[in-house]
Formats: sequence, C-alpha cells, structure tokens
Amino acid sequence: MNLMYRSTRSHSEPMTASQAILKGLAEDGGLFVPQSIPELKIPLEQLGKLTYQETAYEVMKLFFTDFTEEELKKCINSAYDDKFDTSEIAPITNADGAFYLELFHGSTIAFKDMALSILPHLLTTAAKKNQVTDEIVILTATSGDTGKAALAGFADVDGTKIIVFYPKDGVSPIQEKQMVTQKGENTFVIGIKGNFDDAQNGVKAIFGNKELAVTLKGKGYQFSSANSINIGRLVPQIVYYVYAYGKLCEKGELQPGEKINVVVPTGNFGNILAAFYAKNMGLPIDKLICASNDNKVLFDFFQSGAYDRNREFILTTSPSMDILISSNLERLIYKIAGDDADKTLELMKALSTDGKYIITDGMKENMKDFLGGYATEQETAKTIKQLYDKTGYVIDTHTAVAAAVYNKYQTESKDTTKTVIASTASPYKFTRSVMEAIDNKYDSMTDFELVDELSTLSGTAVPPAIEEIRQAEVLHEKVCDADKMQLMVEEILG
Ligand SMILES: *Cc1c(COP(=O)(O)O)cnc(C)c1O
Repeated sequence: MNLMYRSTRSHSEPMTASQAILKGLAEDGGLFVPQSIPELKIPLEQLGKLTYQETAYEVMKLFFTDFTEEELKKCINSAYDDKFDTSEIAPITNADGAFYLELFHGSTIAFKDMALSILPHLLTTAAKKNQVTDEIVILTATSGDTGKAALAGFADVDGTKIIVFYPKDGVSPIQEKQMVTQKGENTFVIGIKGNFDDAQNGVKAIFGNKELAVTLKGKGYQFSSANSINIGRLVPQIVYYVYAYGKLCEKGELQPGEKINVVVPTGNFGNILAAFYAKNMGLPIDKLICASNDNKVLFDFFQSGAYDRNREFILTTSPSMDILISSNLERLIYKIAGDDADKTLELMKALSTDGKYIITDGMKENMKDFLGGYATEQETAKTIKQLYDKTGYVIDTHTAVAAAVYNKYQTESKDTTKTVIASTASPYKFTRSVMEAIDNKYDSMTDFELVDELSTLSGTAVPPAIEEIRQAEVLHEKVCDADKMQLMVEEILG
C-alpha cells in the first residue's frame, strides 16, 4: 500500500509521493503532508554501519513508496556523489562539547545542497512515472542561497530548464558571483532592479498566470518550483539526522536508544521540521531547539502561542534566516491540531489577512518537544569568536546563532543531554561577517583577501566552490525591471 499525501488545508483527494513532488503546492494553497509518519525499520544498533546513501534509501523508501527501489537508488546515487567534498557527505565535528553536523560539503557550501542535489532527480523521475512529457521549467526567486543550490542541482539535468531571478543589488558579492558564473545549457540567471520581495512576487505572478501556462503547454513546457515547501525537499533532510545518530553510536559517543537534543538555525522551518519528522519516526530525539536571529517570530510563537508577522524586518548577518513567514510551520500547525485541515485553513487565512494567528491551548500542549531561542547580532559574533579562540574551529553566522542559543539554553537549564547542532553553511560563504566577528582589523580587506586569511587562520583549505569563482567567467549578464520578468521568461522559452 502506498503512503499517500494530503493537503494541510482541505480534504481533497490524497496523492502519491511522485504526484505531490510534481505539484509542489496543493491546489488549495496548502502543503502536502504524509497521511502518517512511517516508523524507522532498521534497528538503531545497525544504523552506524550504513553509508550516507544507504541511510538515505532506508529513510526515503518509507516516504516515497511509489518509487521503485531502482528509481530511488538511482536518484540517491546521482545526488550524493563527488559533488560533495567528502565521502561522509555530512561529517560531524565535536567542538566545545557539542556535535556540529556539517551540512555544507555540497557544491554550493550551504545546507540547501542536501535537498537540492536530489530534488531534480526526484522531479524528473516523478514526471516519467506520471507520463508527463513536457519539459519542466523551474522558476525561482532567491535571496542568495537557494538560487545557486537550485542552479547547481538542475544544471544539465535532461528534461529541465531553470530560471533564477535575484535582486541585483541585494545579494553578497560572493553569492552573485556564484550565480552568474553558473555553467549548463539549461540555466538562466537574471538580476532584477528591485528587492527580494519584488522577485518573489514576480515569480508568483508568473505561476498564477493561467493563460501563460496554456501557451507554454502548447510549446511543451510546464512550470515547477524548487522552493522549500516541496515534500521532495523535506524528506531528504530527515536523512542526515538519522545518519548522524548512527555515526555517533558507532563512534561510541552515544548508546543506541540514548536521547539527543537538536539545535537548528531556522528560517523557513524546513530543516527543524525534518528533525521533528525524524523524532516521529522513532529516532531518540528529546528537545528540538529552534534558533532564530533578531527576526524572532518563531521564538515569540513558541513562548506565547501567537504567531505575529506584524513587525519590522531586520537585516542581519545571517540573511538566510531573515524571514517573517516560515512557510513550513504550516505542517507543524496541522500536526499539533490533530491533522485538522479546517483549523489549519482558518489559521492560515488569519495569517494572510491579519498577519497573525493564535493557536489553542491544546495545540500548544502538543508542541512541547519544541523550545524557541534567539541570538542578537552581538551574541552571534561573540559566539564565533569565543569558539574560535577556545578550539580553533570556525563556524558561519547561521550556525553561530544556533550555538549561541544552545549556550544560553545550557546555562539556564543545566541540561546535559548530548546535543547536535545543525551547521548550515561553510564560514567561507559568509567570510566577511565571520572574519569581522573574530577581529575588526579585517574591515579594509576585499572579500577574496578575507577568504585567504580565513584559510590561514582556520587551517582549512579554501573550498572548490569558492576557488572556482575567483577566476570564473561571467556567463549571465541579463538585468531587467521587476515588471518585465514574464517577458524575460517568454523570451527564454521562445
Ligand atoms: C536556508 C538556510 C537556513 C534556514 O533553514 P530553514 O529550513 O529555512 O529553516 C539556515 N541557514 C542557512 C545557511 C540556510 O541557507
């Protein structure tokens, strides 16, 4: 029997995994959730013996039940290969009493690679299974990280094209260089004169244009999305929590069955939701600690039960967490409401009309596993410096938000449970903020000078992802006005 997926917002017909991956978002605007969360079949004692790819298969086969073993293994092996700079794929570093689960060893050196390296393969396989013969066109608006990871994932994947829009003056120089040097016949990168919201709204408008969809269908194209609400991105993220647990047992750091805490630097709530799913599958996780930066909507939510996005948007040194609407939280809301689509719809309507909602006491009771914390800019910078001074280990700004939250939690609670911190980006991706946290003498250096300085100071090699873009040729130079995005898409698709 297949595990089916239903929308968080209505009682419409459930779908298979491959159909849910293809659609991305349900017709009613809801997110696809599995009808039940499957139990991990493999005993905890045996987990540590599995490779990353084997662990991925053990987890994904339980969720993507309409994929054959051959299809799934092919997707997994095409994704987790030598695009990663270590065969461990997600290695663990023990520093100052915490386990840093490094999710940044993929081609764009941020954790988005963990899911976006497999999504293109899941999507094209899903298309074949459902007799979709159109070419799939991925449209994405990015504030920096997702765009490059999606480009790298879809580059030269047969049967797909990818078009990425980014705010021309709204990403870091390294992030821009990473995108505009992207190779691949099927990749298109366009800067827009506007901010991230303009790019996002433009993409939404193109998706919503039914006439355009019909015209493109006539030319053999179909749009799809690579954003983080796709169930094909969520499930691959469960894998590394299961894998990390097994490896820690194998190294003798944990006894099989012993509980761990997990701390996750959070933006759209995808990564920490994956940890919650892992817990529901039977992985011994105690607390799920959700770490926010100054945009602490989630911290306030876990404190009070009120989600309120009516507040100032603050730009921080952890930009991938600068988010006021955490889309994946909807899946948690649905679960703590007791799989109640009507209640979820009511709350999501309130969010879109009033910018806020309040959950019931019963729902609050059901999310006791979660704890919210946040770190200010100053605390984040201080954490980078202290950890470096004490151990020589350098973490990026997003990971540092989590580490700061963990330190505060430990001081307050005296909890000695072993803890895994999700390390979501390489410090090389946010070199300037990281180096300035360590010493203010770096103000006057260029970004690439800082990269070399970081290498010396941390004793780590400059990752290929950064080495490549130093000299790489700029291949994408298109810039357009925010209201010309659809024209650009039409031009590309001829
Ligand atoms: C996307 C991102 C996050 C936030 O992850 P969510 O799944 O959106 O909560 C944190 N850190 C980095 C570096 C990211 O790129």
